[in-house]
Amino acid sequence: MLLMSAEPLSMDPEHLLKEEMQRGQLPQALLIAGPYGVGKKTLARQLAKGIMCRGTAPMKPCGICKNCRRFDRMQLPDFLIPEKKRDTKNIIIDSIRSILDALSSHPLEHGRRVVLIENAELLTPQAQNALLKSIEEPDDSTYFLFTADSLRAILPTIRSRCRIARIAPWPKERLLSALEEHGIPYDHRSRLVPLCSGSIGRALDMEADPHFWERAETVEKTFFSVQKSSDIPAALRILREKKDDAAELLNIFEMEVELLLRTGADSLPSAVPSNWADADAESLKRILNRIFEARMYRASNVVWIGAAEKLLQIITEETALW
Ligand SMILES: [Zn+2]
Repeated sequence: MLLMSAEPLSMDPEHLLKEEMQRGQLPQALLIAGPYGVGKKTLARQLAKGIMCRGTAPMKPCGICKNCRRFDRMQLPDFLIPEKKRDTKNIIIDSIRSILDALSSHPLEHGRRVVLIENAELLTPQAQNALLKSIEEPDDSTYFLFTADSLRAILPTIRSRCRIARIAPWPKERLLSALEEHGIPYDHRSRLVPLCSGSIGRALDMEADPHFWERAETVEKTFFSVQKSSDIPAALRILREKKDDAAELLNIFEMEVELLLRTGADSLPSAVPSNWADADAESLKRILNRIFEARMYRASNVVWIGAAEKLLQIITEETALW
């Protein structure tokens, strides 16, 4: 059997959608799904701008036509997004009232109309049901774009009427070059990429958080540096002062140990003592279990320093085996 065209099948969903946007062939109801921070909103806004673009340039969005400029200023009356409501993070029916009103009549400017709902998992079932009729029977000029970190809260009736494009976590090379474009120095890039689970958003959040780097250094000076029982008191002195950061310190240590288990010694920050490169998998799994326990102790109000001491003790017992 001959395939009509093999090209789109080999394309990732993001490129395919951009191609379809150029050709004016986007589906009228699209749900862009994928983990936090992989660029779903950026893509949805680019598609929305491309749909609304009236420029004559071959590439859309052209960025220079009247519509593109009004899009950037959020001044396009036929580009519809929910209103933010105080006191709830959900997108309630009141948030989409003006969208529902607009959908009951023709586009104001007799062109195309785009409804963009980001974080659609926050739509209440009532709000989803209110949108359903318009999605079921769209007029030719209206496009619905949804983004969602999780599909679980999206009603099957909505899902079944949308094309679902799943955006995958980014591969390492793409993350590295995107972080470079953001002007992030090499030593930070190489640390962020393995820790961000393929999420450029998470990597940028970590980079922008001044506490992240300080905490990473604390983890290196404490959990990673204890080699024998006599090292524990000095590590505890540092950790005692950092009790407000306890949850974050455990998270960073856990991420680094998981990464070491998954990808081996190349992922280790240079400040970590070299014997960690020789750690065996069973030993690392035991340490991960103890990190989990330390988090549980903390949650049940056991004093942080007691939980930390226990964890440090276990680490020295494990490192003695390597
Ligand atoms: Zn344009």
